[in-house]
Amino acid sequence: MLTANEIRDSFVKFFESKGHQIVPSAPMVIKDDPTLMFTNAGMNQFKDIILGNHPAKYKRVTDSQKCLRVSGKHNDLEEVGHDTYHHTMFEMLGNWSFGDYFKKEVIGWAYEYLVEVLKLDPKDLYVTVFEGSPEEGLARDDEAAGYWGQFFPEDHIINGNKHDNFWEMGDTGPCGPCSEIHIDSRSAEEKAAIPGRELVNKDHPQVIEIWNLVFMQYNRKADGTLEPLPAKVIDTGMGFERLVRTLQGKTSNYDTDVFQPIIKVIGDLSGKKYGDDEKTDVAMRVVADHIRTIAFSITDGQLPSNAKAGYVIRRILRRAVRYAYTFLGQKQAFMYKLVPVLIENMGGAYPELKAQQALIEKVMKEEEESFLRTLETGIRLLEKTMNETKAAGKTEISGVDAFTLYDTFGFPFDLTELILRENGLTADVKGFEAEMQKQKERARNAAAVETGDWVTLKEGETTFVGYDYTEYETSILRYRQIK
Ligand code: ATP
Ligand code: MG
Ligand code: MG
Ligand code: MG
Repeated sequence: MLTANEIRDSFVKFFESKGHQIVPSAPMVIKDDPTLMFTNAGMNQFKDIILGNHPAKYKRVTDSQKCLRVSGKHNDLEEVGHDTYHHTMFEMLGNWSFGDYFKKEVIGWAYEYLVEVLKLDPKDLYVTVFEGSPEEGLARDDEAAGYWGQFFPEDHIINGNKHDNFWEMGDTGPCGPCSEIHIDSRSAEEKAAIPGRELVNKDHPQVIEIWNLVFMQYNRKADGTLEPLPAKVIDTGMGFERLVRTLQGKTSNYDTDVFQPIIKVIGDLSGKKYGDDEKTDVAMRVVADHIRTIAFSITDGQLPSNAKAGYVIRRILRRAVRYAYTFLGQKQAFMYKLVPVLIENMGGAYPELKAQQALIEKVMKEEEESFLRTLETGIRLLEKTMNETKAAGKTEISGVDAFTLYDTFGFPFDLTELILRENGLTADVKGFEAEMQKQKERARNAAAVETGDWVTLKEGETTFVGYDYTEYETSILRYRQIK
């Protein structure tokens, strides 16, 4: 079985053998682009080449790019920990052609790499092609479908709509159809019962997208019309952790050697065992995922803070601390203790991580301790409220009190409920939701408007707002289901 590190190498070496230059990952934190805080796709670092502002040093390049999807157009944070294939930080394997090869070559190589090199069974693969958009005068991508048809039977080639199969950089600029490759890793019985093609793009945890091949062939002008792009571009992105999981025969990214060593240490430190209990498992996944984001972010020069990118990182760290506190019994700083195992795992591919080990551990420990103090203050407040409630002969605390704990002390609702339950009390859920709704309306006015891959912040906006509210709505819903 190939290890994760071997798989990463095999990808870039494969494309090197096809004349690509291997380039390093760009930093995950972006410092000089007011429209984007974090790299969210492999192509970000090539934006100027694609736009024609910069000549391409190499016409064919390949790499593994550190990406983060927690804000803006791509925000997967709510899923992380609950599903098994979206991460905050992940690696995107990619290959590019800047005005060189196009659909025929990239489709052939994608097939060659997955089926001939990695020996995936083509019966488990499904590919999508753009179905066309008559109102824009765009035909179906028969060209791509034709190339795929050399490798796959008709029932493995699926038409996809504009949302899934037409990529645009923003309101204007390069764009074009794309083909995505999906893999069905269900059991034989499940495959026999429902054909995989019916589950593509349906959020099935065992029928997942692994690779997106984008064929940029148009330029969208300011008036909205399309013209052919003079130098066509191939831009591909494959989810590294998803590929590893597939090749290692696992049903969850967290069962691979990318995450298992971290999860093992979390288990040793907390005395919990992964796989014993769904709530603990979610918490372990959240911590194992978020530690990577925080470590890589600090390495790339973004410390937790109260504004912009720093605030995003601070909130991710706090999300992990809350899960660890609530479900893993961690009342002391503990995430910083996971840094050595992370570095052991990833320091080879990303030596910058090793170089910053001392800083990462120090910053993380301080952040954890400071947030834990806030949590403890909140707990004292909650104790006072509980005593008052009991003294008044009641069993329920008000929605306003629960919301104050959430809003001021960072208490997720389920943490408040957990503590209340231990004391034979409950909280007014409806009242809490009403407060949340009011807060949401306040936040909506300040929220960022986003249209594309680059336009992420409104001018003058300094803080990141938005995800906590929906995150907690989701967590309340989930919590109710569990109950
Ligand atoms: P999905 O539909 O699963 O959310 P996507 O269509 O948003 O993925 P793309 O923007 O096409 O993803 O990115 C290219 C590849 O990166 C995807 O095919 C997938 O394998 C991987 N990927 C995307 N988002 C994540 C994530 N949050 N965590 C891990 N891998 C991801
Ligand atoms: Mg997505
Ligand atoms: Mg998708
Ligand atoms: Mg995609």
